[in-house]
Amino acid sequence: MSTSAQRAQRNALDRQRPAVAGGTPVRDTMLAFARPQLGVEEEQAVIAVLRSGWLGTGPRTEAFEQRFAAYVGTTHAVGVASCTAGLCLALRALRIGPGDEVITSPMTFPATVNAILHVGARPVFADILPDLLTLDPSAVRAAVTPKTRAVIAVHLAGWPCCMDELRAVTAAHGLALVEDAAHAIGARYKGRSAGALGDAAAFSFYPTKNMTTGEGGMVTTNRDGDVAQMRRERLHGIDLDATHRTGTEYTHWEAVSIGWKFNMTDIAAAIGLAQFEKLPGFLDRRRELDARYRTRLGALDGVRPQLGPDGAETAGHLFPVLLDRAALRIDRDAVLQALLAENIGVGVHFRALPLHRFFREVVGTPPEAVPVAADASERVLSLPLYPGMTDADHDDVLEGLTRILEFYRS
Ligand SMILES: *Cc1c(COP(=O)(O)O)cnc(C)c1O
Repeated sequence: MSTSAQRAQRNALDRQRPAVAGGTPVRDTMLAFARPQLGVEEEQAVIAVLRSGWLGTGPRTEAFEQRFAAYVGTTHAVGVASCTAGLCLALRALRIGPGDEVITSPMTFPATVNAILHVGARPVFADILPDLLTLDPSAVRAAVTPKTRAVIAVHLAGWPCCMDELRAVTAAHGLALVEDAAHAIGARYKGRSAGALGDAAAFSFYPTKNMTTGEGGMVTTNRDGDVAQMRRERLHGIDLDATHRTGTEYTHWEAVSIGWKFNMTDIAAAIGLAQFEKLPGFLDRRRELDARYRTRLGALDGVRPQLGPDGAETAGHLFPVLLDRAALRIDRDAVLQALLAENIGVGVHFRALPLHRFFREVVGTPPEAVPVAADASERVLSLPLYPGMTDADHDDVLEGLTRILEFYRS
């Protein structure tokens, strides 16, 4: 026999019990980890391109490039097939190739290091900062050798790297500074935009990024001398852009160098132009959700959001948190599974590349050589963050995480 007060208390406790431990999930339906925000504007833009008869690189790519360069504040933008393609073109234009070393972060997506390998250079990992999770400038300085030619700064999750300190290192050693800005459209650092903070930058328009073209990317640079090479190498190494092969006159085009097939299509560019109109609104909502997470997680033990450097504004791409292993009886993977059981999507950004077999073999850096990144790899977890999330979705994430952390507190 139990009184109604006892029953109510037991029900309240059951409501607090995480779904993995037999409680009821905070949500009935799965909350996606990330989702692109597309509407009738993108649909109409694509239909217009299909009806125009010009699907390849053409006027829409050119218009997108101009808008993008103006937004970032560089003199040039080159539309490409992906951020990975853009990083390859940028490294080639900076004359980086066989025999050269390029220092980058282990806390990144394989694309960053694959680009270095594709141009024939040797990737070198420098460790990250424990709270920011981006390149540690002093570790970069320590990794410089006579063969070092460039540093690729990865603006993780939408936070710019410590660019003043990295610039001091690259300037002192005559190195190029390239931004992997895949996460960073809209990020700012001391009054300037990500993409205008180094010698060249590459952005991604993959579906989960801050804006999408389906697949696509953009290189930004102020280096006038490099742009012609990037435009040529993105399209077979021929000396005329496809745009200019449509007129009434016939001009022979000529292959003048090796090239890739890395151009952006006008279908992608049309989607990009429509997304670009919405970018300020996307960024406002992302930053609002980012701030809301920071405020509410502040009261919760066992979890700490990734921070940014002084003078920076995040693009709010991802929301990584670091779990405090001493405060919890379960590890990150168990927290991740517990969130999924609450019907909340999760991500991990990232498991450091030296933990992946291929990069361990080809780069030869053991995880122990980048201890901060190796440790963060076991403790980091990304919570859902995208403009289509409602406040109620956001509350569900906070409620689910709170239940899990409180239940498994050590
Ligand atoms: C997504 C991503 C890339 C690759 O972008 P693609 O457009 O898919 O080539 C590169 N770097 C980082 C950090 C990324 O997250």
